[in-house]
Amino acid sequence: MEEVRNSVRILCPACGCLLLREDKAVQVQETRALPDPQGELVQETLFWRIDDVYAFDNIAVSKEAQGQKLLTCAECERGILGAMELPSKVCYLCCGRVRERSRGG
Ligand SMILES: [Zn+2]
Repeated sequence: MEEVRNSVRILCPACGCLLLREDKAVQVQETRALPDPQGELVQETLFWRIDDVYAFDNIAVSKEAQGQKLLTCAECERGILGAMELPSKVCYLCCGRVRERSRGG
């Protein structure tokens, strides 16, 4: 299967902060449970996988809980955008929870 990489920048949906530049992530289909704004776990199925946490321009990482850390916007910290798997430190941004900057936008 051909790898799909992010061709546009990935932004925080709440404040527009730049999280990730072009070509830093690979799209993967897998099921992961992430808390919604009410704290309820939701099964998400489409993610951007980022193998190196230093690839992010901005990201905030929570304390470890249940073998992972949660990712949120470093600027506004509104909502859980993804998770960092431990001990690998591979990061997953939920495609449905981030904003993709349109080309030329
Ligand atoms: Zn933000």
